[in-house]
Formats: sequence, structure tokens, C-alpha cells
Amino acid sequence: MDEQDLKHLAAAVELAREGLEAGDEPFGSVLVTGDDEVLRQDRNRVAAGDNTRHPELALAQWAANNMSGDARALATVYTSGEHCPMCSAAHGWVGLGRIVYASSSRQLSGWLAEWGAPPSPVRPLPVQEVAPRVAVEGPEPELAEEVRKLQMEMWRRRGLPIGGPGTTT
Ligand SMILES: [Zn+2]
Repeated sequence: MDEQDLKHLAAAVELAREGLEAGDEPFGSVLVTGDDEVLRQDRNRVAAGDNTRHPELALAQWAANNMSGDARALATVYTSGEHCPMCSAAHGWVGLGRIVYASSSRQLSGWLAEWGAPPSPVRPLPVQEVAPRVAVEGPEPELAEEVRKLQMEMWRRRGLPIGGPGTTT
């Protein structure tokens, strides 16, 4: 992971923070071309009731409609948390390139178990179990810790007895 990677990854974590503050969930993603140009970014938008509104899925669908196959293959998706199986599948189906994540699904599962959060309805498989040809990098320890705090804050707001006020700052 180089300096540009870290910059885009930090932007994804910032989008995750926006998601949390907007009442959605703390997940954010950035789509970057092979020439290091930011094309599109998004964050989680599930609060209105559609639990498929993950940024990684939105970016894959956008890429399918707005980028050539060659451009998609050269692009990188930076994301605060490793893609879930739905988003990994979408990423694989549309032929996007590398995924760089701040925190892994394994880390998230561990945190949720530790905090006594309800289990996810979808199994937290690693990207490469769903889309084996996708190159994957992560986690990144410092940003993963940021993501952990954002997740902790969300679950604290939902009533789990963890963390404390101001843990996201
Ligand atoms: Zn997802």
C-alpha cells in the first residue's frame, strides 16, 4: 500500500464517518481509475430500510453503466470495510480491479462478537472466497482502528453497553 492508497483509504473511512453521522452505517468507498483519478464515492445508506444500499454495490453498478470493461479492470475500489459477499459478487461480475480495505470482515465479525451485537444475516466471507480473481489488500492497522471506533459508536448508539461518549473523536 503506497501513499496514494492510504489517501484514498482515509477518504473512504471519512465517508464511513459521514454515514454514521447521517444515521446510516459507518461504511464508505471510493472508486479510483488506473490513473489515480477519483471517479465516484459513496457511503452506506441503509437507514431508510433497504439493507442492500452498500457503497461497494452502488459503485459496482455505477462502474458497469459508466466505464468500459478495460477501465473497470484497471480501477481500484478503496473501502472502509471489506466487501460483504453481495458486494464482492457485484465487484466480480462487473470486472472491477483491485480492492483495498481498511478493516477486514474477519475483524468486524470479531468486534461484533466481542460487543454482543446481533450476528449478520449474511456470512462474512472474505472477498476472495466470492470473487477469487480480485486482488485484495488490507487491513491497514491505523485506519482499521478508526473503523473499529466508528462501529463501536454505532452499536453504542443502538444501546449496547460499550465504549462511551466521544469515542469517534
Ligand atoms: Zn456489501
